[in-house]
Amino acid sequence: MGDLFQEGSVGAPRNDAQSRVCVLVPYPVDKAYDYAVPVGMEVTRGDYVLVPLGPREVTGVVWGAAQDDVPSKKIKAILHKFPLQAMPDSHIDFIDWVANYTVAQKGNVLKMALSAPKALETPLTQTLYKISEKALTGKFTPTQQQVIDVMCDKQPRIQADIAREADVSAGVVKTLHKKGALTAIEAAMPPPCINANPDFFRLELSEAQESAARILRTSVSAEKSDVFVLDGVTGAGKTEVYFEAVDAAMRADKQVLILMPEIALSNAFIDRFAKRFGCRPALWHSSLTQAQRRVTYRGVAEGGVQVVIGARSALFLPFANLGAIIIDESHDASYKQEEGVTYHARDMAVVRGHFEKCPVILASATPALETMQNVWDGKYKHIHLPVRHGGAKMPAIDVIDLREHKPERQAFLSPVLLQALKETMESGAQSLLFLNRRGYAPLTLCRSCGHRFECARCTAWLVEHRATNRLECHHCGYGIKIPDACPECEDVDSLAPCGPGIERIEEEVKYHFPEARVAVLSSDSADDTHGLRAILGQMRKHELDIIIGTQILAKGHHFPKLATVGVVDADLGLHGGDLRAAERSYQLLHQVAGRAGREKGVEGHVYLQSWNPEARVIQALATGERDTFLDVEAQERKLAHMPPYARLGAIIVSGTNEREVEGFARAMAACAPHGEGVQTFGPAAAPMYRIRGRYRYRLLVHAEKNLNIQKAIRDWQTQLKVPSSLKIQVDIDPQSFL
Ligand code: ADP
Ligand code: ZN
Repeated sequence: MGDLFQEGSVGAPRNDAQSRVCVLVPYPVDKAYDYAVPVGMEVTRGDYVLVPLGPREVTGVVWGAAQDDVPSKKIKAILHKFPLQAMPDSHIDFIDWVANYTVAQKGNVLKMALSAPKALETPLTQTLYKISEKALTGKFTPTQQQVIDVMCDKQPRIQADIAREADVSAGVVKTLHKKGALTAIEAAMPPPCINANPDFFRLELSEAQESAARILRTSVSAEKSDVFVLDGVTGAGKTEVYFEAVDAAMRADKQVLILMPEIALSNAFIDRFAKRFGCRPALWHSSLTQAQRRVTYRGVAEGGVQVVIGARSALFLPFANLGAIIIDESHDASYKQEEGVTYHARDMAVVRGHFEKCPVILASATPALETMQNVWDGKYKHIHLPVRHGGAKMPAIDVIDLREHKPERQAFLSPVLLQALKETMESGAQSLLFLNRRGYAPLTLCRSCGHRFECARCTAWLVEHRATNRLECHHCGYGIKIPDACPECEDVDSLAPCGPGIERIEEEVKYHFPEARVAVLSSDSADDTHGLRAILGQMRKHELDIIIGTQILAKGHHFPKLATVGVVDADLGLHGGDLRAAERSYQLLHQVAGRAGREKGVEGHVYLQSWNPEARVIQALATGERDTFLDVEAQERKLAHMPPYARLGAIIVSGTNEREVEGFARAMAACAPHGEGVQTFGPAAAPMYRIRGRYRYRLLVHAEKNLNIQKAIRDWQTQLKVPSSLKIQVDIDPQSFL
């Protein structure tokens, strides 16, 4: 940056007239624009400001010294500076870096960082109640006394917290306020997780855990941007180990970010955190209220919030003083954002750790091949926890060959699996059936004419949802009521479901076990996370015998009495020919299997139903030979010249006019990067040719590992004038090829 920033302030006036800075705005722009700093205003790099942009007034961030020589008459002035601690340099550098790496526009990356605009204003206040002198002499009813007992510690609290802690209704609090026993004060809402205590409750770590923890603690204290791969089977005690990194950061007055898939459902994890540190973590995900976002964002920026547990978007919060980043289930596919700025939160976390000078911990039982390759190359440090904690055994894994053990006609559970469910129930334990397919049936066809129900806007079959009596598209939300007659041949009662979804498995289970307590769990099961959490809670408390679900069930949950896991279709993930299909399938099934037998005394047993039991993935799962599997996977990718041994960048051209999309994709191909170490394939119609009525073509840039693929793509883009009717999406290191 310019020398104006050496002192951290750019408010000093130039001799001619006003001083100037450049401000980045959260819109699709690639550079920060110059603005004048009005007399009397002092701004620093990172300050949040309000600036005029065309006819609008928008929030932006002071990005650096002025860059252009805009004539004084033309330059506009900053309107307002928000009263919030400036965004740290490390974060600004991170945003610049991400934009450059992902070939995204800088303003679009900033937009992800300005995720709670209200937080910039003065903090929200709320009414707190405090015990008054009067309360010491007054006479109270028993419920009122409960409140007085709670409030005796003289801590001010909001009404809802008092009512909850004293276990009384809000009315009791109101009455005590009227009586003068409680006094009300208006105060800023405190951010979450500001009183966590590393000594609140410490477990005694095993020897393996202790030596792992020591390495992490040392790195946190040394402020080193090490990357650790915390590798160990499910139940090995990885969480307990990375809590020690959290512990070390707390002691050093630093903040911690923990990323987690499906954070909104991780109640049990939050309870566990609270047990360890005496305080609930701050949360960051899409279902927070505006007020929660506002208070949390501000608390993170000012440094008060100690620990944030969040979805990938939390990576763009402006932490004041980050001491460690932890990525739980680091192999999880949901860390890749596919819309807007396409980035991989795992990779970007490593970059953020570099700028923040703090360690990054990737925890997983099945680290991605990319991650392991970095271990083999000596870039990441490997920490291995080999066995389950406390003597719990790994579940036994059986492959059920469906050719031999055929389910009945129109059914999907083999006799072997049904028998296992029966025995499990009789022994007083629980079972889980896994099928990564929502709804009742993935396809509906007419038995008379063969008509198949397809989405009108997407390249996708409509999925039958019997619970709601509808056929629905899982890509765009289009849906129709299930008709009585075929729309093609008008035959009545001719429609037949093909293949299973979890609702259909539920039907089969209920048929065989009418007395069992059964539930299905998928994103359809409830309108909100609250409803989903309720079902998970029932499972934990053993109020269910059999739970049937999609991948939501695979992630992180701990069901103490779960003994049997049945994978209805272990071959499912292998269709489609994606370069990571085998690896993904392995990770997902391993994770599902890891739900079984997590507590000592509950013997876990996993059944994989497969039509192709010889497949490498199935064999690797059955024998538990993960490392051999990864070795073979690595060999295959090397031979195919694919990541992580080469680089890919995908370009997706989309628009509503089919001819125009195809034409432009061809024009792009005509000037695409070709040369030493780089070539471009395509265009080809995307496997998902239509989504929401938009046609899609793909191009794929393939480059040697050491080639700057971003530069090649940027240079290419500058040669093109993209019509406004088309959208061009760049996806560096693509995970999805749909
Ligand atoms: P992972 O994160 O590797 O799946 P966890 O950290 O969740 O493993 O540990 C698995 C189970 O073992 C949890 O119930 C946890 O509370 C328990 N556990 C782990 N370490 C210890 C320990 N040192 N002392 C007591 N219980 C432990
Ligand atoms: Zn659709």
